[in-house]
Amino acid sequence: MKKHIPVSEPYLDGAEKEFVLDALEKKAISGFFGEYITRFEEGFAAYSDCSHGVAVTSGTTALHLALLALRVGAGDEVLVATTTNMATFFAVAYQNAKAVPIDIEEDTFNLDPAKLEAKITPRTKAIIVVHLFGHPVDMDPVLAVAKKHNLFVIEDCAEAHGATYKGRKVGSLGHIGCFSFYANKIITTGEGGMLTTNDPALAERSRSLRSLAFGKVNKFMHSDIGYNYRMTNLQAAVGCAQLGKIEDVIARKIKMAAFYTSRLSGEKSLRLPVTKPYARNVYWMYHVNLEGKAASRRDEILKDLREQGIETREGFIPYNLQEIFIKDKLTSPGDCPVAARLATTSFYLPSSPLITVEDMEYVANGLKDALNR
Ligand SMILES: *Cc1c(COP(=O)(O)O)cnc(C)c1O
Repeated sequence: MKKHIPVSEPYLDGAEKEFVLDALEKKAISGFFGEYITRFEEGFAAYSDCSHGVAVTSGTTALHLALLALRVGAGDEVLVATTTNMATFFAVAYQNAKAVPIDIEEDTFNLDPAKLEAKITPRTKAIIVVHLFGHPVDMDPVLAVAKKHNLFVIEDCAEAHGATYKGRKVGSLGHIGCFSFYANKIITTGEGGMLTTNDPALAERSRSLRSLAFGKVNKFMHSDIGYNYRMTNLQAAVGCAQLGKIEDVIARKIKMAAFYTSRLSGEKSLRLPVTKPYARNVYWMYHVNLEGKAASRRDEILKDLREQGIETREGFIPYNLQEIFIKDKLTSPGDCPVAARLATTSFYLPSSPLITVEDMEYVANGLKDALNR
């Protein structure tokens, strides 16, 4: 059989089956009833140093709900890290707010806090940071700018469950954290997400809007225009099992990264991921950048790897390069030059928590061959 090493695989060998069958047997299948939802919310919030967790259908809906809870809407501006899954920007678009892309740091690929202040106007209402590829954003300068200008801070933690900044968990540093539990994230519920916060009022408003804003006195006298963003008890059952081994997954990710780094650190044409002194990087994906002459050869190198059975993904295309937004004159490539440049030279390697040492060796050698061909 031809070799195939995937970029990621879900790690489902634990209590997932038992918990899902239990939920099924109890007929607790919806997002309304069942003990797994509360258990997952409380467990994951506590794990993330937060007092409240609101489970939702995806990372995208967690982000949308965060903006709804903070009443960010038309006429407001939101500063957003330009390099991300476009879901971060779509959430802003759902609210008819204006997204303002912020360029990234060369080494972490995260939002550069030094570039925030110049983009602030009287209409700026919030900042969305993205802890990309598992590495936390340098939060102290972000929080200082937010405090000075009275802005909300939303953390997109979809790739960084369990990452810490100066010892504090991501998702607990701003006003609201937004997590995804899509199949390839650090832990998964298939599809799913969670909003985390230490603010009880924001938690309550999010909880209400998540579930059609049903009335408190008469259920069917709704208190607002609500949404159905409820996670099902079946998904939460998977989540509870996954939460039980989150540190195991992270340990595997950190080992994976250390192995690749040990094998690839001599390669001049590769810039490897970093871990800043303030960070616990959970290495969602092992993301590298091509340097020098190799920088213009990404497509060729990825094709070579594909032929060797090594799956890869190109780096995210930042907001300022997305045609749908450029055509509407909302942005242009020059808005974030660092992100525009790195978008064409970066990619990530197979980073599954289940990858074997043998396969990592194969990937590292295959990549070196491709670089030197
Ligand atoms: C995956 C991801 C999302 C979207 O989450 P879904 O669960 O797929 O909706 C948002 N932001 C980032 C940074 C992501 O990686």
